[in-house]
Amino acid sequence: MSPTDKILQGIGMTSQRTRDRLIQRLKDQGIDNELVLDVMRRTPRHLFIDEALAHRAYEDIALPLGYGQTISQPYIVALMTQQLLADGTPNSVLEIGTGCGYQTAVLAGIFPQVYSVERIETLYKQAKKRLAELEYYNVQLRHTDGILGWPNPDYQFDRIMITAACTEIPEALTQQLVEGGSMIFPFDDGRDQTLMELTKTSQGLETTALVKVSFVPLLPGLA
Ligand code: SAH
Repeated sequence: MSPTDKILQGIGMTSQRTRDRLIQRLKDQGIDNELVLDVMRRTPRHLFIDEALAHRAYEDIALPLGYGQTISQPYIVALMTQQLLADGTPNSVLEIGTGCGYQTAVLAGIFPQVYSVERIETLYKQAKKRLAELEYYNVQLRHTDGILGWPNPDYQFDRIMITAACTEIPEALTQQLVEGGSMIFPFDDGRDQTLMELTKTSQGLETTALVKVSFVPLLPGLA
């Protein structure tokens, strides 16, 4: 095994066996999309977090990633990704909140075209370097405020995933969603956060509540 393979595969608490246990746990919790399970089995989550926390990478928990932000719990990553695949075969996805890039990597294993934006410059730069090193060539990243959508207003996406909690639905994002497309996002009503799915039809926008969640807030402007 080459040194690179060793790093990718992980050893001990980051080994394939530890990862397989996480996948089993996701199945037990109701994740049944084989593509999602397979991509998560192969995605090296330990390489997206601080080395000091790498031994906890395959526990089903959220972890800090610096700057007060968190890498989402694997179950939530799986659930949100699976939900975006419930209907049809989407080609493109826009993620709001790149963070460490783990969710981005999972999406890149599934969607032909992945776009992701992050408002914190240091996180954006780190994620960009990491995803390039891991050879994710189908990902485009931008340091920008996702509330305003992808910086080119002419773009439209089949799916949108917001990975920070919103208090209102960003209009720029519903505009950048294709008709027939769907968006998943945590919504904060001031008391609770609920994961919501929005679908855009010729009649307008429809939303459905999924489960209670806990995300860092979606914030305006750059940092
Ligand atoms: N998908 C990430 C989750 C990161 S936490 C992962 O798997 O690691 C949410 C991220 O959203 C944070 O990095 C935060 O800085 C970012 N964020 C919050 N508001 C934003 C905005 N308006 N535009 C872009 N990114 C935003």
